[in-house]
Amino acid sequence: MAEHESLEFGKADFVLLDNVSMEEFMANLKLRFEKGRIYTYIGEVVVSVNPYRAMNIYGRDVIEQYKGRELYERPPHLFAIADAAYKAMKRRNKDTCIVISGESGAGKTEASKYIMQYIAAITNPNQRAEVERVKNMLLKSNCVLEAFGNAKTNRNDNSSRFGKYMDINFDFKGDPIGGHINNYLLEKVCIAFGKDFSCINDGADFKAVADAMKVIGFTGDEIQTVYKILATILHLGNLTFGVDGDVTLIENTKLVSVIRELLSTKEENVEKALLYRTVATGRDVIEKQHTTQEANYGRDALAKAMYERLFCWIVSRINDIIEVRNYDAKIHGKNTVIGVLDIYGFEIFQNNSFEQFCINYCNEKLQQLFIQLVLKQEQDEYQREGIPWKHIDYFNNQIIVDLVEQQHKGIFAVLDEACMNVGKVTDEVFLQGLNTKLAKHAHYTSRKLSPTDKSLEFDRDFRIRHYAGDVVYSVVGFIDKNKDTLFQDFKRLLYNSSNSVLKAMWPEGKLRITEVTKRPLTAATLFKNSMISLVENLASKEPYYVRCIKPNDVKSPLLFEHERCRHQVEYLGLLENVRVRRAGFANRQTYPRFLQRYKMISEFTWPNHDLPSDKDAVKRLLQGCGFDHDVAYGKTKVFIRTPRTLFSLEEQRAEMV
Ligand code: ADP
Ligand code: MG
Repeated sequence: MAEHESLEFGKADFVLLDNVSMEEFMANLKLRFEKGRIYTYIGEVVVSVNPYRAMNIYGRDVIEQYKGRELYERPPHLFAIADAAYKAMKRRNKDTCIVISGESGAGKTEASKYIMQYIAAITNPNQRAEVERVKNMLLKSNCVLEAFGNAKTNRNDNSSRFGKYMDINFDFKGDPIGGHINNYLLEKVCIAFGKDFSCINDGADFKAVADAMKVIGFTGDEIQTVYKILATILHLGNLTFGVDGDVTLIENTKLVSVIRELLSTKEENVEKALLYRTVATGRDVIEKQHTTQEANYGRDALAKAMYERLFCWIVSRINDIIEVRNYDAKIHGKNTVIGVLDIYGFEIFQNNSFEQFCINYCNEKLQQLFIQLVLKQEQDEYQREGIPWKHIDYFNNQIIVDLVEQQHKGIFAVLDEACMNVGKVTDEVFLQGLNTKLAKHAHYTSRKLSPTDKSLEFDRDFRIRHYAGDVVYSVVGFIDKNKDTLFQDFKRLLYNSSNSVLKAMWPEGKLRITEVTKRPLTAATLFKNSMISLVENLASKEPYYVRCIKPNDVKSPLLFEHERCRHQVEYLGLLENVRVRRAGFANRQTYPRFLQRYKMISEFTWPNHDLPSDKDAVKRLLQGCGFDHDVAYGKTKVFIRTPRTLFSLEEQRAEMV
């Protein structure tokens, strides 16, 4: 008996659970984790639990076992999903995507690397040099981005980045010819002052990254500039302000010289930008001195903005380099794509703020897409196979997506409006706006609207009923995080650098103060726009999903913290996932495959049948077992409605072999 059919290791597909309950789900997840089976399916979704130890399941031999096989033929694995996505792309000429989600540390990035390695391993059988070059570039770019994306904050381990999307382009032979990366950044508090950007933590680390950058094609000047920017950010973290009478001053002026040197600007300009801001009052332009509080704030904003800008610049340089170059490949022949999305799943902490709000909105969007695509995929297949479509009942979360993104009265719109308020611009004004506009919304409430609700502890709290559950957010910091907080003086400072690489990163520094009239887009608007285009992009592709779970907080390979995992199962919407999947047909197989697997359980089909077609043989077999009522016969496939039937077939098969 093949291993993945043995119950000793639990059920390889959650769809096969006897009952879809949290208890059964968790018991199966735990059993499999303890038996070292870190992957389990929900239909074509892979659920993965971070093993926190080296698993001997990614080698060349394993790759060979998955190459070209069907999903259910081998134990659940990322490779099977990667292979399915690749097959669909190559055979059916479809763009596909693999969506990997989970919380920080759940194993998303590792999963995306294994998927890319798998794709790299199974492509380019003819060893074409150009393809090998592209593959190498794609893998290397990934490393460079990881190095920069994983800047650790000094408060916690969260990286600043919350999502990365990478397209791999293939030519008509199915070989990689280029790629494109999109990054989704969310600043976390204090990101700027981690002493430990992993990439410059120590010289050796930076050297490795610098070498990789060089191989990819960054110039010496560019790499130098990257280093200087990172160094500047670290120095800014040590810069402090004091007062003398009513004059704000920099306490450690030596640092200003160092920063000046690094940024190739004039020393007095650095000092001025840190201590003053230029404001236009009517026709006059005056220099207004910062208070120490403002100076601190400006310094932090500068460090954050420099880091963010650097990161975006690196991404765009990498994109220049890995872009599909070959003119012929673009024009002639088909050019198909596999997209890999590595993105934070639903997040809920003790204290949830703007970042969690954005991440959870993103997950609402992805859930909406999931519903549409999975149901659509099912529907398409039923149609192709000539099986009547049965309506599937599920919670449509569009109402929550609208609650956040709708024009004028969505939460983001209310936030932007509060930021443009002529009078006071405070988090409280924002909350009042929400309470006025959303008082009657079924998925919104706040302390003011539900004063007796125990979960709303503070006046600043509001609560959203997400598809995955309720989350309480604090409005504190929303306004600040939404606005572009960088003083124009800093932009001018960086633009006026004699380092041309740095200068090019800050084109808006060119504007004079009197020319700056247009407000920059808010973080919420930028975020919303990027999510909308991400989802549009994914919607045009055939999706595959990987859901990652972090079993404990101590990186232990042995510990399965039940409550922690249950929480993630809940917020990843996995039970809903199983239900949607089971509402249709739990399983479908082509007639020859089905016979190959189960023919031994019926005298009519063993060892061979003499019926006119495989379809007839399968009918005969299933009638004989009394399962006829639970299946539908399509043109090329048999559809099995309930997992129990499949399960019984598996049991009978196990008795025979
Ligand atoms: P995420 O991208 O979700 O934040 P990572 O992919 O970086 O998480 O994984 C965090 C750590 O967990 C890795 O550095 C590695 O030590 C461990 N890990 C994750 N996936 C695996 C795996 N499949 N096998 C072994 N270790 C893993
Ligand atoms: Mg990651």
